Amino acid sequence: MTRTYWLEHAWLGTHVEPGVAMDVTDGRITAVRTGTETPPPGAEILRGLTLPGLANAHSHAFHRALRGTVQVGSGTFWTWREVMYATADRLTPDSYHALARAVYAEMALAGITAVGEFHYVHHAPGGTPYADPNAMGEALIAAAADAGIRITLLDTAYLSSGFGQPPNRHQLRFSDGTADAWAERCSVLKERDHARIGAAIHSVRAVPAEQLATVAGWAEERRAPLHVHLSEQTAENEACHEVHGCTPTQLLALHGVLGPRTTGVHNTHLTAEDISLIGGSGTGTCMCPTTERDLADGIGPAVALQNEGSPLSLGSDSHAVIDLLEEARAMELNERLRSRTRGHWTAAALLRAASADGHAALGWDDTGTLEAGARADFTTIALDSVRTAGPLPRLGAETAVFAATAADVRHTVVAGRHIVRDGAHQLVPDVPQALSRAVEALRS
Ligand SMILES: [Zn+2]
Repeated sequence: MTRTYWLEHAWLGTHVEPGVAMDVTDGRITAVRTGTETPPPGAEILRGLTLPGLANAHSHAFHRALRGTVQVGSGTFWTWREVMYATADRLTPDSYHALARAVYAEMALAGITAVGEFHYVHHAPGGTPYADPNAMGEALIAAAADAGIRITLLDTAYLSSGFGQPPNRHQLRFSDGTADAWAERCSVLKERDHARIGAAIHSVRAVPAEQLATVAGWAEERRAPLHVHLSEQTAENEACHEVHGCTPTQLLALHGVLGPRTTGVHNTHLTAEDISLIGGSGTGTCMCPTTERDLADGIGPAVALQNEGSPLSLGSDSHAVIDLLEEARAMELNERLRSRTRGHWTAAALLRAASADGHAALGWDDTGTLEAGARADFTTIALDSVRTAGPLPRLGAETAVFAATAADVRHTVVAGRHIVRDGAHQLVPDVPQALSRAVEALRS
């Protein structure tokens, strides 16, 4: 069955086009007709600016339970991590499903149509596998289906606490023991229409060097995305130097982890040689600016990485906020503060990072553009809200990226199915209540 949408304004990758009719059949865009001033009879009318669906390339769904709580007091990434571990200790497959369903529904309300879930809470506390060893990963895949968005489950190898250190008591439930055991468990996971399976290396701290190639080989064999937290903290760089005499990036390069299907998350504290290795190998960079500023990580060299050939994507990571428009502008605004010059990325480039390049980093190559053949994933931003009213519609992309927030999302459509209509989630009736209940259940 073909459904026609009429877009009052559409972002076509280079410019805002007024009056666009778009046909969708079996979850894909089959025709895009410009110059359509009035809606065709029977068309679904989307007022505002329709963008390709946003891709949240880096998420830890359970961190959403920390919102607010971790803003009391001072500290560093490492003190924040203790609070985060206390929450991880309490997760069960049921409570994680309830929380992730609500968090993914919040994402849909923010125009996000695909999430990359960097998932490492695999086993019961203490490290005992569940009856289904993938019960936690399956809970996340089901949660995404229930919330109506796509997921790439980046199943994460997390085997050690530090270089040569066994997992600590919190980390026992993250560990499969060896990369081979990790691979065996992951190989059972099945892809579905809304779900892809990818791999992740938690960090060079968490996977011993001699086992990195096992994870990289697993991803290579399946042509699956491979993500890795990389140089988020200077302490990781120092420890890596001490043990291996090189940077984390050099270590990954040495063990065959870098390449076009690999994405380094954060890529914050890099040397010039690291930047060349990442860019030259086509390895992607996922920036998570709202988390990086929240955790006082620092500002990564995104401009230099992109110039060297690293495609950029964006993620809300710890979910201090869930707003990809904020992530996009924060990348540019951080660079302005550092360089005291403006215009490092255009709104078009920021939207590409927030959509097409983010989808590609998650293995959804045919998603993130409004053109025939692409998956019918899109979101509509109001241009008549208190934040967005005023600018000319042809500046809709600049307005959306630099002034709109997640609160301006009116519609979210995934695979041709309306998930958010007029700001209301169609599958999860009361998202704030679902969030409160799920977070309350995890409170100590
Ligand atoms: Zn992360």
